[in-house]
Amino acid sequence: MATKKKSNTLKLKFDTAWPYAPAPESRSAAQIKDRYELFINGEWQAPLSKKYFGTINPATEEKLSEVAMANAADVDKAVKAARNAYEKTWRKISAKERAKYIFRIARIIQEKARELAIIETLDGGKPIRESRDFDVPTAANHFFYYAGWADKLEYAFLNKKAEPLGVAGQIIPWNFPLLMAAWKIAPALATGNTVVLKPAETTPLTALKLAEIIQEADLPPGVVNILTGAGETGAAIVNHPDINKIAFTGSTDVGKIIQRAVAGTNKRVTLELGGKAANIIFEDAPLDQAVEGVINGIFFNQGHVCCAGSRLYVQESVAKQVIRKLKDRMESLIVGDPLDKNTDIGAINSKQQLATINKYLQIGRSEGAEMYESACKLPNKGFWCRPTIFTNVAQSNRIAQEEIFGPVLSILTFRTDDEVIEKANNSPYGLSAGVWTDKGSKIFNMTKRMRAGVIWANTFNKFDPTSPFGGYKESGFGREGGLHGLLPYVELKNI
Ligand code: ADP
Repeated sequence: MATKKKSNTLKLKFDTAWPYAPAPESRSAAQIKDRYELFINGEWQAPLSKKYFGTINPATEEKLSEVAMANAADVDKAVKAARNAYEKTWRKISAKERAKYIFRIARIIQEKARELAIIETLDGGKPIRESRDFDVPTAANHFFYYAGWADKLEYAFLNKKAEPLGVAGQIIPWNFPLLMAAWKIAPALATGNTVVLKPAETTPLTALKLAEIIQEADLPPGVVNILTGAGETGAAIVNHPDINKIAFTGSTDVGKIIQRAVAGTNKRVTLELGGKAANIIFEDAPLDQAVEGVINGIFFNQGHVCCAGSRLYVQESVAKQVIRKLKDRMESLIVGDPLDKNTDIGAINSKQQLATINKYLQIGRSEGAEMYESACKLPNKGFWCRPTIFTNVAQSNRIAQEEIFGPVLSILTFRTDDEVIEKANNSPYGLSAGVWTDKGSKIFNMTKRMRAGVIWANTFNKFDPTSPFGGYKESGFGREGGLHGLLPYVELKNI
């Protein structure tokens, strides 16, 4: 309690001595229609379901637009369009031509970067700084990168011929809506497949904007189809008999449903699922840098990141010092209007996700962990959660084992390398991890023995289109990004 009081005082001092003037991004550059239809065969088509649903701004609860709810008949229509485009045009045109189309998409994303960033922030609640500086440029970079591979597949797979699979069904989550669409669409197109993509129900708008971009890039009709809808729409894509490949990013629970649904079929599948990343600070680490990395690792995008560093392991000798530094830094984080360029932490994506996070805050307290949240004021409307840490956490606690998907960090301590490796690996997940130490040899020792798809050393949450991403264990299988990201979309033949 004493520490909390001290930090409250600190917060007041920051507030009164160094207030930032509001710097909101204007909404005027964002053109959002009142209603969106389905993007099938290069056209906007009213849904056969005749149903629509609203999408709101989670920071204000105001309705932004309404979008079509695709049913199984709509999915069938989109798959037919994708199959037709695959057979008649996309697999036939030269790889060089395919590359030009993908390159064009990347360029138009860059041209519309500001609008896309504003819409991403409005629809999903993430700070404009992130959508402007990370989501949108990285999405464009993925298209650029895979445009580069399209006509060089013989160098990617030496002595093999890479053939496309056919129609790819792609289902994506709400945490990086445009970026996830880019991760999925770019490698599929580069390898000659056609696409039926479904964005998440709470964040459909940038995928629909991407459909406009695809129209503007003049892609042959049916090469990319974008269907909005909820879980049932996703299930209809997964179960459609004429789909050759499913790419899914989302929860482990839905991933398991999908894996069961495709078992016994000849559909290829890649799953990118949950995570509970261990971020490990050794006593020899540059502590201020490590604390900054931990803050970025868990509070970036409100912790709505499958590879979020949500378990912090601190070496016992520096634990007190690190926790104090963390608490002080948390007090200076700005929580609020996601459109404000100073905001560090925006809105929680949905009411439902906020309820899940609050449930875990309750679980953490009842498990006996000590909770500390920053003293910031929260807006009256919308869905918000203060940056929160738990100390005195046991390895067996649910808050140390289960994915919370919010700005909530569980802190544990360790004494030796062997102990922390054992603890870090003691998780059903294995998507990512972080190591903070001054010693290169320790980094190699840790990265060799930890079971996680991505391990960052003295940094966190760094992404690049050239670098593969994906998990171990219940975090899924298959890799996205880099050369590896081409593999799930091709059949390799010996030549
Ligand atoms: P999250 O917890 O991140 O929302 P979900 O796994 O619930 O993750 O959702 C990720 C995506 O999967 C969304 O686009 C959602 O509509 C879709 N989805 C949900 N249920 C199913 C299902 N049974 N089959 C296919 N897709 C689904």
